[in-house]
Amino acid sequence: MPAYEFICNYCGNKVEVFATASQKEKGLDLYCENCGSPDVKKIIRMPMPFLRGISSGGCCGSNSSGCC
Ligand SMILES: [Zn+2]
Repeated sequence: MPAYEFICNYCGNKVEVFATASQKEKGLDLYCENCGSPDVKKIIRMPMPFLRGISSGGCCGSNSSGCC
C-alpha cells in the first residue's frame, strides 16, 4: 500500500496517509492530526542533489569559484 505525505498549511505538521489507488481516486479524507485542519498539501519529493545545490549555492550555480 503506497504512502502519501502531506504537510499541514496551518501548523506545518506532516501527515502520512496509507491508501490504495482506488481509495485515492475516491478522495481521501485528509486532515492534520495535530491541529485538525483540513488544509493540507501534498509533499513533492525533490531529488537530493537538486536540493543540495540550492541550499549550498552549489559549484555550478551563481558562485564564481570556478570549481567546475
Ligand atoms: Zn496542522
